[in-house]
Amino acid sequence: MMSPLRQLPAVGKVLDHPALAALRGRYSAETITAAVRVELDRVRDRLKAGEAGIDLDSIALNIVIQLQSFEAPILRTVLNATGIVLHTNLGRSPLAEVAALAAYEAARGYLNLELDLGTGKRSSRQDPIRAGVVAITGAEAATVVNNCAAATVIVLRALAAGKEVVVSRGQLIEIGGNFRIPEIMAASGAILREVGTTNITRLVDYERAIGPNTGLLMRIHTSNFRVRGFTESVGIGELAALGNKRGIPVIDDAGSGAVLDWPDEPQVSQGIAAGADLVLFSGDKLLGGPQAGIIAGKATLIATIERDPLMRAFRCDKMTLAALEATLRLHRNPERIRETIPTLAMLTMPLATLRKRAETFAARLRTLPEIRSLEVRDDAAFVGGGSLPDVALPTVVIALTAACHSEDAFAARLRSGTPAVMARIHAGQVVFDLRTVFDRQLDDLFAAISVALREESP
Ligand SMILES: *Cc1c(COP(=O)(O)O)cnc(C)c1O
Repeated sequence: MMSPLRQLPAVGKVLDHPALAALRGRYSAETITAAVRVELDRVRDRLKAGEAGIDLDSIALNIVIQLQSFEAPILRTVLNATGIVLHTNLGRSPLAEVAALAAYEAARGYLNLELDLGTGKRSSRQDPIRAGVVAITGAEAATVVNNCAAATVIVLRALAAGKEVVVSRGQLIEIGGNFRIPEIMAASGAILREVGTTNITRLVDYERAIGPNTGLLMRIHTSNFRVRGFTESVGIGELAALGNKRGIPVIDDAGSGAVLDWPDEPQVSQGIAAGADLVLFSGDKLLGGPQAGIIAGKATLIATIERDPLMRAFRCDKMTLAALEATLRLHRNPERIRETIPTLAMLTMPLATLRKRAETFAARLRTLPEIRSLEVRDDAAFVGGGSLPDVALPTVVIALTAACHSEDAFAARLRSGTPAVMARIHAGQVVFDLRTVFDRQLDDLFAAISVALREESP
């Protein structure tokens, strides 16, 4: 019997196919040949598996599709119809327009990143953000690194390498993505000194743990979970008083960076007001800015941190700093941040507005013939991003079923459309929460849903 692999065309023969010959100016010969080889490997596997009927035209077509897929960006806009404002997989906080523009301008040109335009001398890239952080935290000084995880590592390393850091057992959290406090502690060279129990930690537990090798007392905000019932923990004020008395710096890892008054969530100004020496928080959670880890507190400690050799590895790039400066500038006008900062606008969107937007959009959807059922109903949304785990925001959603597709197939078609749409699947329906969809995106969302509902491939 003839080997089935005899049917496999030679690379040269495929390259001469007119569909590929037409692409010669667009892609290099190496790129085209590599794509041919990838496709022929696939064909070889299919032939080995006993498939017959290999035709050159379909091989050429697959290669063209493969080459075109290299051109399409992998990162693209997603319409977030989940209602989850700080959706980590979708990039957490969308930036305010002025912050996005600042990043854009920084990206496409030069800026005085480390230059004092007055003196012409070198300056620190941290200077532009210090005043804004000081204003929202009440701290003496501030510095910023890539994210809050990096902030934790650099603080522990610079202030407590080889020394003990006292932490309550109730606060040894995992943030997600393998960011676990005990492991971070080990990576930074600090020695974890656990005190208390999961549910109860008292001030005496910290007092007893203090010894000649104690470097820091640290409170870590349990941002993504809550312990209820028979619990006791030590507030940052009490901990700061103890640290002060014993001459040990007290660190407050506040995590979410709340500036508004949320239930059970410390505001970024509380730690410093209560006497903490440093407070750490994320730039892209409840602050509503770019990904960043903000460290605010005593000027002497900030200076020590900035001298750490790892600071260079953790520092932010020009686009982040430009966006962060612009975001902090918006925070200078706290009365308006519910309008100017998209994250805060979405989180505080009134229920009446959500209902009106849902109903108006639902009325448009009802004109589409491929809908099997449509319902506008009350629901609850979560904040996401490991923030405010207990805050269920009352919301209004549109729940759809498609005439031609199962809920999973409909959701998959939405994800692979242009623009991509992320919705939630619940009880056989695809659920859209417009809280996280901007007004400017509603027409695109409508078009994307119309295409995804259709029977044929998009
Ligand atoms: C989210 C969070 C972090 C990590 O912040 P990233 O900016 O995501 O690195 C650290 N600590 C706490 C308490 C947090 O909530």
